[in-house]
Amino acid sequence: MRGTVLHAPGDVRVEHRDDPAILQPTDAILRVTAACVCGSDLWDYRGVNQVTQPTPMGHEYVGIVEEVGGEVTTLRPGQFVVGSFWASDNTCAICQAGYQSRCVNAQYVGLGGSQAELLRVPLADGTLVATPGQPSADLIPGLLAASDVLGTGWFGAVAAQAGPGKTVAVVGDGAVGLLGVLAAQQLGAERIIAMSRHEDRQKLALKFGATDIVTERGDEGVQRVKELTDGLGAHSTIEAVGTQESMMQAIRSTRASGHVGYVGVTHGVQIPGEELFFSGVHLHGGPAPVRSFLPELIDLIWNRTIDPGRVFDLDLPLDQAAEGYQAMDQRRAIKALLRP
Ligand SMILES: [Zn+2]
Repeated sequence: MRGTVLHAPGDVRVEHRDDPAILQPTDAILRVTAACVCGSDLWDYRGVNQVTQPTPMGHEYVGIVEEVGGEVTTLRPGQFVVGSFWASDNTCAICQAGYQSRCVNAQYVGLGGSQAELLRVPLADGTLVATPGQPSADLIPGLLAASDVLGTGWFGAVAAQAGPGKTVAVVGDGAVGLLGVLAAQQLGAERIIAMSRHEDRQKLALKFGATDIVTERGDEGVQRVKELTDGLGAHSTIEAVGTQESMMQAIRSTRASGHVGYVGVTHGVQIPGEELFFSGVHLHGGPAPVRSFLPELIDLIWNRTIDPGRVFDLDLPLDQAAEGYQAMDQRRAIKALLRP
């Protein structure tokens, strides 16, 4: 099969790789219909995370079940499925509590690299959710978004306790932040402040339900959010970047009693204990348990209530994956969809 492999920072290639095989009786093999490039893939692409060997890339996917292992009971070949980037049994105590991304048997689906023609998904019964039928072409980007960026933005909004009567601030205007705006809107937030300096992203944020745009960052951004909220700060803040600056911006933009939902993968973040102590702010986040939201999100997309697929502003054949990485790295694209 063909698949994307990162060899060194900035050097991503589509090459022939061995077809994945069923290794455990609980595995499924998917024929990937669509995959995409994640903001977190850029940490590897930019060399922030060290790449020590050629690495298959991609952890977001939708596709058609090609083959299932002998112990898979809920799926059969031919079904169209959406899955999370963490495989989970969906039965242990942690999964039952709604934290499938921290399942005691969790395995990272991205090890196999979903930017490829075929993908092995472990713990298929617990990980994959079949759609009600074969989706029409226009639904595929939205369903793909559910696999990670929508599920992650959704968790950010839930963790931040976005809801009726709440003012929600969103730090980060990448795909996750933009879909955090959409999630906050769906969850009934009264006011949504999107923090973005890029005009194309501001436009999409407004389409997804943002009511205010703040272009300032850091302390100035915090000041603007406070001005918009009677000097108090937001009730709920979604942190969708993962840097020291964005995390502190999120905490400082939130009022005492408020909640920060942090879903940007943290890189070198150090929160000063004394500031946290006196902030009176709840912090909750981490790797999103996308699996817990998938049935609801698939339903909203299938019924065309939401269209998270609008975050894909670049649609490429898999062979042009390198262009997708470059465009996102240079911020020429919000998110690149890849079609094997
Ligand atoms: Zn589990």
